[in-house]
Amino acid sequence: MKEFEVAVIGGGPAGLTSALYLLRARRKIVLIEKLSPGGQVLLTEKIENYPGFPNGIAGFELADAFSKQVDLYNPEKIFGEVKSLKIGDNFHTVELEEEEIKAKAIVIASGARWRKLGVPGEQEFAGKGVSYCAVCDGNFFRDQVVACIGGGDTALEESLYLSKIVKKIYLIHRRDKFRGTKIYQEKVLANPKIEVLWDTVVTEFKGEEELQAVGLRNVKTGENKVLNVSGAFVFIGVEPNTDFLPSEIKKDERGFVFTDSEMRTNIPGIFAAGDIRAKLCRQVSTAVGDGACAGFNASSYLEQLNDD
Ligand code: NAP
Repeated sequence: MKEFEVAVIGGGPAGLTSALYLLRARRKIVLIEKLSPGGQVLLTEKIENYPGFPNGIAGFELADAFSKQVDLYNPEKIFGEVKSLKIGDNFHTVELEEEEIKAKAIVIASGARWRKLGVPGEQEFAGKGVSYCAVCDGNFFRDQVVACIGGGDTALEESLYLSKIVKKIYLIHRRDKFRGTKIYQEKVLANPKIEVLWDTVVTEFKGEEELQAVGLRNVKTGENKVLNVSGAFVFIGVEPNTDFLPSEIKKDERGFVFTDSEMRTNIPGIFAAGDIRAKLCRQVSTAVGDGACAGFNASSYLEQLNDD
């Protein structure tokens, strides 16, 4: 079984930044990533609020730049899914599909995934009209009518992106006020291709082979109606990728991991960074900050172990 000083779980902005700091501190690390490095950033068309890029930068370009910078230090990498993390005294054990590794410290940066609405038809029409990723699937709906669901930054930003491709967007939000950033709200409300349906929830996804319509209910009037669309994009937030974590690690009621301001979890030697953390502001810039902090503190933790 391979032994490392630190195992970084997750290759998004938080994990890659952690890895960068640890590698520059000359720590022996392994970077574990499920698919390719980049995380959810890869699925974002353009990032306009990451400092240093006044004209914005494509998500995949930023992810690629992060990854190339880490690769300068030749880290050991494992591509695979972590099945479990077992807490130990001197070493923690990370169990993957085909191997187990040991590490004295762990940085959990496994991110978050899109939440599902959980209404009838959602599962049936996933990939057949129901999508969670505008960059991945937007082109399938060129010049067609689609629905976007949600009122946060993702729903607003992705509706703006889709408006360049599709004929019309119904933006369906359960309240009469958006949650997302004001600048996106202004752009959405000024966009002639986007019509907002306030106080409205999706009750079902309907169709035969492919999605043809969404069932809607106005939560204030109770009125039900059916809206014909060929695509529906669900952007109602995220849930943490924590299935592999042991119950000893403290989490909030939605499963996000609690840390202190130094990214320490309640278990010595286990740190968490990025979208997986219980926090309010989930951004690439905050993930990078978390990652730097976790990397720095994991390295300090190892130093203390050596001193003891
Ligand atoms: P979010 O901020 O949690 O917003 C989720 C939206 O979906 C809310 O408007 C919420 O309605 C709605 N919603 C939740 N559950 C629902 C349900 N069951 N049925 C109908 N509507 C539902 O999620 P997000 O927009 O994906 O953003 C996640 C995080 O990433 C946030 O911190 C966000 O700021 C960040 N982000 C930032 C950027 C950027 O800055 N460029 C881009 C994307 C995401 P209510 O408003 O009524 O709760």
